[in-house]
Amino acid sequence: MTETFPEFAPVPPSALGPAMNEQGYHVGRVERNLYWVTDGTYQSAFLTTSDGVVLLDAPPTLGNNIRRAVDEIASANGVSNEINYLIYSHHHADHVGASSLFDKNVTRIGHEETRRLLIRDDDPARPPNEETFQDRRTLEIGGERIDLAWHGANHSPDNIIIHLPDHDALMLIDVVNPGWVPVYVSNLTEDIPGYLEAPGNALAYSWKHFIGGHVGRLGTRDDVKLHQQYMADISESSKKAIDAVDPRTYYAHYGVNKWAAAKGHLDETTRLAAEPVIEKYTGVLAGADIFTESTAFWVMESIRLDLGYGSQVHP
Ligand SMILES: [Zn+2]
Repeated sequence: MTETFPEFAPVPPSALGPAMNEQGYHVGRVERNLYWVTDGTYQSAFLTTSDGVVLLDAPPTLGNNIRRAVDEIASANGVSNEINYLIYSHHHADHVGASSLFDKNVTRIGHEETRRLLIRDDDPARPPNEETFQDRRTLEIGGERIDLAWHGANHSPDNIIIHLPDHDALMLIDVVNPGWVPVYVSNLTEDIPGYLEAPGNALAYSWKHFIGGHVGRLGTRDDVKLHQQYMADISESSKKAIDAVDPRTYYAHYGVNKWAAAKGHLDETTRLAAEPVIEKYTGVLAGADIFTESTAFWVMESIRLDLGYGSQVHP
């Protein structure tokens, strides 16, 4: 049997990051003693301090390459390679599922909801963070400042902003993928209104370097603004599509088969919503031709269900 692979628009060069080394990772300096690590798809970061290393997320695809990257940087700079702290951005296994690689002496820090969800999920790969906070928490570790903030649910209920004011850096995972569109349903987002607000919350801080958790490069403020514009375009286009499609046509056609009618109505609305956005962003953001329709579906549903847009009460 021969597999057939669909063709997609080429990846714009602006979406690409540095090449991987032989072990399949790249580690680079963000600023001063803050470093980032990527395998080309996932990202993690760490700070070397006088009180050991502070690790920010531990994606399982990076796995033991995190240890290798820390060792490489620590030995090059003659500083401690001991990982003493691990900060969780949120509870998802694809970003913290290598947590258990680090020994029991690691202090795990994250949002209180992250702890609750990790206790619920009961995954030995992700020990619940014993240190928690509610809205804000400032950490001073080995003379370095890390500000943690929860602005409400977005991609997940517990996703936080990690701001490093003395490194001009901000980490916000699974919201903006610099150079790329979000994957399925807005990066698998649970709360679309919160997701749409999140880039603005990030831009309200002072920073130059953005760590988004995905794909092969760091981001800039312009990347975050471009993502904001892409999502705003999807929202606007979705409202127009909701206005343009009359569900009654589908319900009249399909009669008792209500789900056939629902599919006809919602698929056509999604297609109309996505069409001009795919056209505008192909060649600008990688994957615009691949995932815009899925994200448009989810945004369109949020506009209907969260905002009540297009909702009509039966006379
Ligand atoms: Zn996630």
